[in-house]
Amino acid sequence: MATPEHVVIVGGGLAGWRAAQELRAAGFAGQLTLLSAERHPPYDRPPLSKRLLKADVDAAPIVFAREGSDETSLDLDLRSGVRAVGLHPGIVVTEQDTPDGPVAGEVTYDALVVATGVRARELPTLAGHPRVHLLRTFDDVLALRAALDGAKSMLVVGAGFIGAEVATAAYDRGIAVTIIEALDIPYQRTLGEFLGELVGRMASRYGVALRTGTGVDELIDSDESVHVRLSDGTTLEADIAVVGVGTQVNVEWLGPDLHLGWDAGVTCDGAGRALGLDPVYGPVYALGDVAAWHDEPQDRHLRFEHWTTAVDQAPVMARTLVRDLAGEEPEPTAPLLPYFWSDQFGRKVQLLGRPGIADSVELLHGEDPPDPVAPAPRKVLIGYFCADHLVAIAGISAPALLGRYRPLLAAGASRKEVLAYAAELGS
Ligand code: FAD
Repeated sequence: MATPEHVVIVGGGLAGWRAAQELRAAGFAGQLTLLSAERHPPYDRPPLSKRLLKADVDAAPIVFAREGSDETSLDLDLRSGVRAVGLHPGIVVTEQDTPDGPVAGEVTYDALVVATGVRARELPTLAGHPRVHLLRTFDDVLALRAALDGAKSMLVVGAGFIGAEVATAAYDRGIAVTIIEALDIPYQRTLGEFLGELVGRMASRYGVALRTGTGVDELIDSDESVHVRLSDGTTLEADIAVVGVGTQVNVEWLGPDLHLGWDAGVTCDGAGRALGLDPVYGPVYALGDVAAWHDEPQDRHLRFEHWTTAVDQAPVMARTLVRDLAGEEPEPTAPLLPYFWSDQFGRKVQLLGRPGIADSVELLHGEDPPDPVAPAPRKVLIGYFCADHLVAIAGISAPALLGRYRPLLAAGASRKEVLAYAAELGS
């Protein structure tokens, strides 16, 4: 590259770290700065609700930097504890906490990468109470671990993936857990009724109480315990509570020009370029949980809060940025295949593809129909179809099986082909 440009990445999570790695891999030789609001070096989040909540595991973040790919080898100026608080054309306005109070600063950029992710959504009824926890950061884990150490009972508000993982970890520590879920079926929106019902059954079989179709209306007391009134009129009490009711995108620092709203995030094309921005801001890109890339198969801008999405987007965005700076033609991009996994109630739940566009589901492997009193299913695989073509696969305890359907999914195989393949594989 002839002129040394300065790329500034804001957000030191998975997406920001991978962006730095992939920019170097794509040949970016200019100045690279990573602004990270957290005091810890960039670390991985999935272990926070799994391994790191176990009583016999040391509380240490799983950091990304390792020999051969650290700040030095990447020639990366990593500034931990520095948050972006505003954006002007070519300038990120920053703030850093110091013993003498917050210190303002500025970092100029030639190209900007937005990787500020999301934060856990608070529940207004329970917000700010010392016995009520959220889980997004390593500091949240430290607080939650301390609370778990002395707890005998716990409420989990929200039967999403994080709630289910925390419930599993707490139950494994001998804590009585009740999950409260506003929907009638857990995961109804993300997994659909069939799989959602099975996961709910898994929770009950595991020993976790599940209260569906009700929410938390009121906090009665939080001094000695978390005592709440539910919308069905009943009350529940526990030593601590964890709220897992979704997330909010970290976009406020960008101002209104760059994002669509609280849930939408930064709107991008299918290669990570932020859209609809005044050209005076220069080239701006976004990736990871905060970014709503154009998803060609659904012809919509969508955010996927999936680990693999950030990993898959990073090389695409990096190559695009490098070519854009060099004034080269963009290379063609293929749509990315969303993938998510979660470890809960002793099982692995996986989802590959786009269940949101499905108009029907088909049980490919596992028991049918689900029997509410039978032991939770050992291995289940479900196909999601749109106009008779495979658009997603979900599995419980079936990682190898799920992998075998990947080519059929990539090819958008017909229902007939998929069912024939399932019959060939057997149960
Ligand atoms: P983040 O990891 O949120 O990183 C964003 C970073 O930007 C944060 O460090 C934040 O502090 C920083 N930041 C925010 N605002 C600013 C600012 N103004 N200035 C500077 N820095 C800022 N996915 C799966 O597929 N499977 C799993 O099993 C799974 N488990 C998970 C468990 C937990 C507890 C959590 C929280 C997430 C899990 N995920 C899982 C999701 C996965 O971890 C995320 O998709 C991934 O971390 C996204 O990375 P990101 O860098 O986009 O966002």
